[in-house]
Amino acid sequence: MILALTNQKGGVGKTTLAINLSAALAEKGLSVLLVDLDPQANASSGLGVRVSASRSLYAALAGKRPPGDLIISTPYGVSLLPSSVDLAGGEVELLDLPDREFLLRNILADLSPRYDFVILDCPPSLGILTVNALCAAEGVVIPLQCEYYALEGLSLLVRTLRRVREGLNSGLFLFGIVLTMYDGRNRLSREVAEEVRRHFRWTVFETLIPRTVRLSEAPSHGKPITAYEPRGRAAEAFRRLAEEVARRARQKGQAIG
Ligand code: ADP
Ligand code: MG
Repeated sequence: MILALTNQKGGVGKTTLAINLSAALAEKGLSVLLVDLDPQANASSGLGVRVSASRSLYAALAGKRPPGDLIISTPYGVSLLPSSVDLAGGEVELLDLPDREFLLRNILADLSPRYDFVILDCPPSLGILTVNALCAAEGVVIPLQCEYYALEGLSLLVRTLRRVREGLNSGLFLFGIVLTMYDGRNRLSREVAEEVRRHFRWTVFETLIPRTVRLSEAPSHGKPITAYEPRGRAAEAFRRLAEEVARRARQKGQAIG
């Protein structure tokens, strides 16, 4: 199952979700490929990986390297197709290539059958890299921050998903919404979580990802939370989420409304 973690807002917890969901799925014994599509390369550095441009996903997208050569095995059971910080400008180059929306889909065609899950960490925009993720993906996972403006921008995202489904990837479906940075002591956080559940019902995963400083510390040690604080409540939350994701993948999601 290929899942794109998408929300054009920055700082909502996409990369934290990408790293820790991947690690929790791998801990369950599933094979996982994490693809870092963000030129900021936070998913790569968060797993302790730093590569030059010539060893990054962009080398494969630009057709300069076979993608299989670029995959790095991490100590956490997650295979990583890394991004590189040198390549913030690479996006512009891709715009000139023929088939520019399908570069990632083409790369993953041979690779994805080897994995139970391919997790795509998208950059905070709806640009060509995110469009590539949406064209390559089967399902979309939307992380939403449990804060006041959580739903802002969501209608634009849903419109983009519909457009991609109509024109470029007819099989794309909404796999689920993950509520992130939840603080149970904060009334607003509880209210936002309730409102999102009222709106989106079954689409929202039961598991709430708690707001904890441990999750923001772990990347500076290059570790997922399941290795950084294996018995903490954040690690336990990601294990529960991985369980839900695996179950839902078996049942498969529904079409975007
Ligand atoms: P995005 O990829 O959407 O930009 P990130 O996952 O990078 O978002 O998260 C933005 C910032 O918030 C990072 O500094 C990250 O460490 C922090 N963060 C994310 N999720 C949590 C959480 N549940 N609790 C505490 N800090 C978090
Ligand atoms: Mg990110």
